[in-house]
Amino acid sequence: MVRDSSMLDGTIASLDTAVRSLGLEDDMRETLVTPWREIQVGMPVQMDDGKVRVFHGYRSQHNASRGPYKGGIRYHPNADLAHTRALGMLMTWKTALADVPFGGAKGGVSVDPRELSNGELNRLTRRYTMSIHHVIGVNRDIPAPDLGTSAQTMAWIMDAYGSIHGHTPGIVTGKPIELGGSLGRAEAPGRGAAVVGCRAIVDSGSTPDQCTVAVQGFGAVGAAAAQTMFDNGAKVIAVSDVDGAIINTSGLDIPALLRIVLDGGSVSDFVDADPLDNADLLTLDCDVLIPAAIEDVITPMNAPDVRAGIIIEGANRPVTSVADEILADAGKNVIPDILANAGGVIASYFEWAQNIQVFNWELERVNRELDKKMNKAYDVTKAQADRNGGSMRKAAFDVAVNRVAETIKIRGYVG
Ligand code: NAD
Repeated sequence: MVRDSSMLDGTIASLDTAVRSLGLEDDMRETLVTPWREIQVGMPVQMDDGKVRVFHGYRSQHNASRGPYKGGIRYHPNADLAHTRALGMLMTWKTALADVPFGGAKGGVSVDPRELSNGELNRLTRRYTMSIHHVIGVNRDIPAPDLGTSAQTMAWIMDAYGSIHGHTPGIVTGKPIELGGSLGRAEAPGRGAAVVGCRAIVDSGSTPDQCTVAVQGFGAVGAAAAQTMFDNGAKVIAVSDVDGAIINTSGLDIPALLRIVLDGGSVSDFVDADPLDNADLLTLDCDVLIPAAIEDVITPMNAPDVRAGIIIEGANRPVTSVADEILADAGKNVIPDILANAGGVIASYFEWAQNIQVFNWELERVNRELDKKMNKAYDVTKAQADRNGGSMRKAAFDVAVNRVAETIKIRGYVG
């Protein structure tokens, strides 16, 4: 049994809406909702003080009907099986909507990585790899970074996996460039979120240079989304990180802010802005809101106060199911996570393909192919939404679930 989780419930509710809309039978619904394999591991790891601490890790392989399982590994104190399962299921729909040849999976370790030294994280990651190496593989399941993990974590996994299976760069994506990582991979989810954000702005009858933007979270996704919006002429007026938020209604100098953050500072260190309450960023008077930090930040409590007309889910599931209905009733256009942040898995696909071919692409090619795939995913979602009159989330799930159901039928699992 897994413990109840609003995220898991919300993810299944979105699937069920698609199942009803597509008229799928009960046996297909059961096949779509059930993870194909889950593994739970206990990992004794020696700490720097010589004591041993036992960590708990998970890998939920949700569905591989369209290709090898694909999904990140999260190091977070709240990681558990239910959470990992929900995120793995979301990956199945995301890879299907992006039309990359992968299924969906997610991994998690219940740990606060900030409490561990580099050496402890290295040992934990190698132990986790040894615990799951028999169920991952270049044509089986390809992990990637997520919250609390990084390119360095992927390097440790690749090295540990290689010590058993031989040099295998394609076992993980989001690696350091020196070990076969792809140019543009780190910025891809944020860039992709901005690409579909600009499409939504144009569809609303405006243009990016007429729009104000607020971004929650200035990490991998948020910073690249802010930079790409800035490059497209939008005025990014507020950003936040876990330590605080800042605002400048004339527009923040995003490249300058990025330099501070890349140097190890936080957004609050930026002097050409005023401090803002972190929670107030979400209800700021702006045209576009990009929650790009963590899940469940727009809830029934603050959803009625959201003033942005377009909400782009840079993070996974930042809007709860009930909040989503409140936003829809208020006429807000929510670009759902499985579309908005699909740039990460699309660039991961490019990295995997480059590793298999032992051939590196130029950045210009990565970005061009990424923009093409993001625009295609937006087009097919928008066309479905226009046809059925529903939200972009409902349309995205309809398209994605239908694609997975089709491959399940073709493989002969369900008639
Ligand atoms: P990250 O760790 O690089 O950045 C997270 C940012 O959010 C940091 O700036 C952090 O300070 C900030 N933050 C955390 N809690 C906050 C809070 N309560 N208020 C304001 N800011 C807060 O992580 P990331 O890779 O950018 O991932 C962010 C989200 O995007 C996650 O939901 C992740 O699952 C999702 N995502 C990431 C990728 C990827 O490839 N990096 C791809 C798809 C989806």
